[in-house]
Amino acid sequence: MDRLLREGRLRKLLEHGDEDLARECRKKGCELCGGVLHSATYKRQPRGPDWVEGWDRRYSFCCAEEGCRKRHTPGSLRFLGRRVYVSVVVVLMAAMVHGLAPQRVERLRQVLGIDEKTLERWRTWWLETFVQSGFWKGAKGRLKEPADEGRMPLSLVEALEAETPEGMVNLLKFLAPITVPGRKGVVGM
Ligand SMILES: [Zn+2]
Repeated sequence: MDRLLREGRLRKLLEHGDEDLARECRKKGCELCGGVLHSATYKRQPRGPDWVEGWDRRYSFCCAEEGCRKRHTPGSLRFLGRRVYVSVVVVLMAAMVHGLAPQRVERLRQVLGIDEKTLERWRTWWLETFVQSGFWKGAKGRLKEPADEGRMPLSLVEALEAETPEGMVNLLKFLAPITVPGRKGVVGM
């Protein structure tokens, strides 16, 4: 599983995924008034493996209509809400706690510069907040095999075969609805 964090190939796949989500969002236009959407990206300074360097913008749009200006932020495969670490790290590190030898998790934690409290917060978020979320209750039925909520997110990684770059992309697409800041029914961290 930790091999994925060294997969530079994942970078392009996640970038393309975000471009697609941004294009779809923009094509739909403003959900309030039907106006045209203009680019209004958010600045980001994400942490993660070396290959996330340069991911300094998150796609976002604003309605161009005077008096509306509603912001629209598409889901993202790279950024999980406002979290500093990229999504793939938040998923994999929390999954590895269930699946890897503690020394290996510890080494990776240090390499990526994640403090212990942060990792513990992620772990708790998956096991308590995420599994109680409206998103999960609505989405879990879409998995072919039921996921074990006591081993999240490892059981999600297994269910979606997310140990390969392509599988990880699918997992992050599955989660994309929860990455929109402030969306109702979705869970902060
Ligand atoms: Zn509008």
